[in-house]
Amino acid sequence: MAEQRPGLIMCVCTGKCPGFEKMDIWDFINRARVELPVEFGVIHPQLCEEDGDRFLADFLKAKRPLVIAGCAPNMQYKLFRDAFAAQGMDAKKDMVPLDIRDMTTDEAVEKVAAALRDMGVEEDG
Ligand code: SF4
Repeated sequence: MAEQRPGLIMCVCTGKCPGFEKMDIWDFINRARVELPVEFGVIHPQLCEEDGDRFLADFLKAKRPLVIAGCAPNMQYKLFRDAFAAQGMDAKKDMVPLDIRDMTTDEAVEKVAAALRDMGVEEDG
């Protein structure tokens, strides 16, 4: 997984979920996409809805591994498994799901940074 830098999608659970109240979501995604070795960082409002499936169907055509920061990993595996399988990908291998609910901005950025280190993704240079 390390040869391609992953994309980072934050799923913000409609923006109304109290689980994200402790962080500044824009600060989080801006810091992550600028400071961390990801190909890009974006925020999606509700990835597990039908339009989220359609978004993933288009998006996964790039076959890029993804870090998805949002709700519980078990939930994410269930919700996104079929979308990955439809593109010949395996959510267990090609997705790194991170639960960043109830975290501050700093804690959430560090959680993504730690996951990238675990994945063996290197900084440029
Ligand atoms: S994928 Fe998880 S974080 Fe995103 S909208 Fe669904 S339940 Fe909420």
